[in-house]
Amino acid sequence: MSQFLDPKYASFEEYTPGEQPKDFVYTKLNTNESPYPPGPAVTKAVSDPDLISRLRLYSDPTMSRLKKALADRYDVSPENVFVSNGSDEILNFAFMAFGQDGVLFPEISYGFYEVFGDVNQREYRKVPLLDDFSIRISDYFDSGKMVVLANPNAPTGKAVSREEVARICEKNKDHVVLIDEAYVDFGAESCVSLIKKYENLLVVHTYSKSRSLAGARLGFSFASETLTKDLEKIKFSTNPYNVNSLTAEAGIAALSEDSYYQENAEKIKKTRTWTEKELRSLGFEVIPSLSNFLFVRSDLISGEELYFTLKSKRVLVRHFDSPKITDYNRITIGTPEQMELLMQKIREILEEKNA
Ligand SMILES: *Cc1c(COP(=O)(O)O)cnc(C)c1O
Repeated sequence: MSQFLDPKYASFEEYTPGEQPKDFVYTKLNTNESPYPPGPAVTKAVSDPDLISRLRLYSDPTMSRLKKALADRYDVSPENVFVSNGSDEILNFAFMAFGQDGVLFPEISYGFYEVFGDVNQREYRKVPLLDDFSIRISDYFDSGKMVVLANPNAPTGKAVSREEVARICEKNKDHVVLIDEAYVDFGAESCVSLIKKYENLLVVHTYSKSRSLAGARLGFSFASETLTKDLEKIKFSTNPYNVNSLTAEAGIAALSEDSYYQENAEKIKKTRTWTEKELRSLGFEVIPSLSNFLFVRSDLISGEELYFTLKSKRVLVRHFDSPKITDYNRITIGTPEQMELLMQKIREILEEKNA
């Protein structure tokens, strides 16, 4: 750290992204990316010579075509849609825009919430989960703060219902309720339809997981017109061209082949069921998941040892260095072939331990 850094940024820890190592070729089951590539419409869109020649121009700061396409797909109006450079940017904007009375989120959840709280100097309170990792919604009633919930939650994969989100909105009328639906396409109930009823609800989505575009960096959200305008105000005060032209076209193209991504999500759900069963047969405890990952532990091997031994065998999973979940690993659901390889490596590791 230099002598020039504002001390307010000095004391907290930045977010640690999942590793993207380049030393060997790994089977990557650590950052919840899709194992399937973007579809042909995306390839075609981003190779268009007209689009490429237009790269000399700034991207459209209103993102009107992308917003219209998203509004049509999700049955809302374009005034309810906000788009961003990855959904992490919307989360940050929301902490900036709506976190002035503090922020409430689960103790075990997406690690970035805490970092956005720190960088924006928001007071935040982390609410413990129940012993089975579920969320007790009454813990979020009358909070006097912005409420942030990942639904399904990460890294547990557990979800609350739309009805429960509605009650949280009703019980926090004076504050924003942010529902981060990064993983909703893998089986949980979406709350997008509730934005028509609750002016305080902000539902955040991403192209990074079910739509195979993590590297393109594209997030979007749904909310009342007024909340959406507030986010636009923050965007136009920080980075009006937050979404680049290539990514915007990729996003529009992906919506034109939506069924391809829905089919991939169905494949991933099937593979999740298979993997869960296999892990259970080896004695693992597996939290039932509505996401594209499983959160697992075993009495036979510690979370850390499993992580390191798998890595030495060129399979990457995610281990969190946090006392309450140190026994666990989060395993992204890949292709059936990747999961067969994972199971083969886990069997090997358990046999080597027994030998
Ligand atoms: C992956 C993830 C995101 C977002 O990612 P972007 O790539 O920035 O869109 C947001 N929230 C949760 C809970 C996630 O797991």
